[in-house]
Order: sequence, then structure tokens, then C-alpha cells
Amino acid sequence: MRRTRNAKIVATLGPTSSDKDTVRRLFLAGVDVFRLNFSHGSPSDHRARFAILRELEQETGRPIGILADLQGPKLRVGTFSDGPVMLVEGASFRLDLDPTPGDVLRAGMPHPEIFAALVPGAELLLDDGRLRLVVERCGADFAETRVAVGGKLSERKGVNVPGVVLPITALTAKDRRDLALALEEGADWIALSFVQRPEDVAEARALIGDRAAIVSKLEKPSAIDRLDEIVALSDAVMVARGDLGVEMPAERVPTIQKRIIRSCRHAGKPVIVATQMLESMIDSPVPTRAEASDVATAIYDGADAVMLSAESASGQFPVEAVKMMNRIIEQVEGDPQYRQLIDASHTAARPGGDVAEAVCCAMRRAVSLVQAAAIVCYTSSGHTSLRAARERPESPILSLTPSIGVARRLALVWGVHSVHIADVSDVSQMTDLACEVARSEKFADSGQTIVAIAGMPFATPGTTNLMRIATV
Ligand code: PGA
Ligand code: MN
Repeated sequence: MRRTRNAKIVATLGPTSSDKDTVRRLFLAGVDVFRLNFSHGSPSDHRARFAILRELEQETGRPIGILADLQGPKLRVGTFSDGPVMLVEGASFRLDLDPTPGDVLRAGMPHPEIFAALVPGAELLLDDGRLRLVVERCGADFAETRVAVGGKLSERKGVNVPGVVLPITALTAKDRRDLALALEEGADWIALSFVQRPEDVAEARALIGDRAAIVSKLEKPSAIDRLDEIVALSDAVMVARGDLGVEMPAERVPTIQKRIIRSCRHAGKPVIVATQMLESMIDSPVPTRAEASDVATAIYDGADAVMLSAESASGQFPVEAVKMMNRIIEQVEGDPQYRQLIDASHTAARPGGDVAEAVCCAMRRAVSLVQAAAIVCYTSSGHTSLRAARERPESPILSLTPSIGVARRLALVWGVHSVHIADVSDVSQMTDLACEVARSEKFADSGQTIVAIAGMPFATPGTTNLMRIATV
């Protein structure tokens, strides 16, 4: 079973998509990496999703990536006793530390550090900035506010306090518990929310080690200021446009998105474009034209993956949203302009690079000259395949690895189709296996050419030093 596109699809599982049948349909429709959002759901909900995904992997024989997205120091309102409330412009609304369910007059907000940092006149943005409250009076455990922009507010919606620096840590106590669960269940990727500094990534790395790879979510202005350093320390990056567009003016998001994609492509780190991609498909079977265009833009820019959040987690059309994303990607990648744009935005490795750089540059050229049916990468750590994907080559990347963990992680990476294999010991065995798998995975027919790259000795990570051109 192979996808007919290079860019990948990440979809979030939630209340409307977590039964086995829906998860299977999502996978068949095109999901490469499933995101478990630890901002919602109980530990047992998440454990059940891990179990379903690993069963599905067994059934289909295809490696599936699981991304555990930690909530991070996200600020949220509490619950309401009678469902969502309607806040009307001009009304007063109180926030406090009282855990009792709220109503139209007040709600809990269990974050003493916000109350400590608030001042009269400060603005609180609720539900991704849809509602706006202005603080009139405040104390250590409450804030009396005036509704400046009203709307419906449901429980546990996010709160952003732009302009006020909050003294909060990168990994909360809840994140540490969720992280332990995710690692125990074998998550492939851990996403860190509200990364502010490179040190936040280093702190998480010290806890996670090599048990999972790290996605830094860029959603704070301070992270954008130190973009390249954060990219260098991360295994992948997410353009987390939801909170980014609240913390910064919406008109700055498109240029920042392009800057992040460029930085990641240059560094050879996978980049995911996330949030509101097909937002209207939460309750409509078709997206707006603008949404279709937004997904297309991310693909033309060379992003590794595009992501669905509420569309697949709690929307009415999760499978349709995935199918739509799949079709948009296929359309873009079939456009001759796509190749021109990808080539034009490719940054060549600089002189003085290592042997792996040289092999991958040669591979890119060779693939184009011999019109290779596929690139076959042997990788023990995933490095060779990542480095190959950085080239955005014209042929698909068939990645062979003896590590199921590496195969799963690479599900996020542009153009990579992973196959879990037994170890090989010499070049002729490698070439035979490359041809055999290229044929069995339907990447090449007899007589077609493949370009294989690998590192010798085979089991040593980071040694890409060999290219072999073979006829299947
Ligand atoms: P979230 O992250 O959905 O966990 O908030 C993504 C974003 O902010 O865009
Ligand atoms: Mn966010």
C-alpha cells in the first residue's frame, strides 16, 4: 500500500474519530501520522487510541507514526455548569481561582500566575482570540473584566494574554505525567507546546532522550525570534498557527509560516503546517476555496506535512477532510509549477559539508539524469532518509530500515515511504534487496532504474557514503 503523493497528512484523533472503524477509514483515506492531543481526553482515552493504532499497523503492515502533543503551559478557563455561555459585549464577567463550574457571570481559571501578572487594562483573549475581555479590577485570585468582543464560550477554551510576560515553565506537571504515558505506550513523536527558548527543547530532550523524537511547536513570538536555534535543537517543527495567530497579529502569520518552512527545509528538519487548514469542514462536507488554497500554499512551499485538528478530532466530516487534503496535495504535486517552485526554493548544501551532503547532492542529480523510478535509502537511524528528503528529489524515497521506530518516525517526512526490513551486511545484498522491495512495493518494474544510497558499515548511524545505481 503506497501513497501517491510526497507531502504527508497528520490528523488529530478525538471524540468523533477514535473508534477502530473510523481510525481505519482515516488511515485508508491518507493519514500518515496520528496526533493525540493531550489537551483533551483522559489517560485511558489515549491508551485506547495507542492500542487501536498499533493493531491497525499490524493489520495493514504499514508503519504508522504517533505524535503525542503535550498541552504545555496553555492557559484555559474552567468548566460551566450548564454548557456553553453567551458573553455579550459590554457585560461584566469575572474570572477567579474557584473550581466550581461557571455561568454567564463568572468562570474559573486555574492559573494563579496569570492573576499575579494581570493589571487593569490588560486584555484577555479567549477561544483562539474570538472573545476579548478587558481587565477592570484584579487581585491575587480574581479579575473583574468587561466583555469587549462577545460570543459563545464553552468549557476549557484557551486563554492568551498577549503583551504580559507570564512566568511559566515549558513542561507542566501534567505534561510530565502525559509524557510518561506517551513514552510508555511508544509514541514516536512528542510535540512541545509554547516553546519560548532553545533551552525549553534541551530540557525536554534531557527527559525524553532517544525514546522519541521532538516536534517544537512554534506559537510564541519569542520562539520566532530564535527560530534557527530552536530548529537546530528540534527533530521537527510545527507552525502552530492557532496560538501564533493569537499571540501575534493574524497578518504576520503567512510570512512567519514561510520563514519557518524555509528555515526547516534548509536545516533538513521536517515541518508541519497546522491549524484551521480546512476549518469549515468541522461542520461542512466541503471546504472554502480559501482553505483549499491555504493547504495548496503549504505544499507549494515544500512543507513536509499538513495537519488537521478539530476537523478530524471533533468535526462531523473527519474522513472527508482527510480525503480533501489528499486530493489537494495530489493536485498541487501534479502541477508542473510545483517542481519549478520546489527547485527554486531549494537551498544547496554549502561547500565544506560532510560526505552525506555530497552523496545526497549527487543522488539528486543522478535521479534526475537517469529518470529513476525510485530512490532506495538504507537507514538505521533515519538520517540518510531525512537527508535524502531534504533534497526534495524528483523520485519517491523508499526507505528501508531494520528499526520499526525509525520507520514510524519517518512517516512524517516528505516523500518517504518506509519499509521495515531485516539488516543487510554487504553492498550486493543491499542492491538485491533494494530491487526486490522497489518491485514488491510497486515503486519500480523490471528494467527500470533505481538509485540506492546508504552508509557503510551498515549498522552505523550517520555514515551515508555510498550511492549505487541499479536496474531492477
Ligand atoms: P494546539 O496547537 O492545537 O495544541 O493549540 C496548535 C496551534 O496552536 O496552532
Ligand atoms: Mn497551540
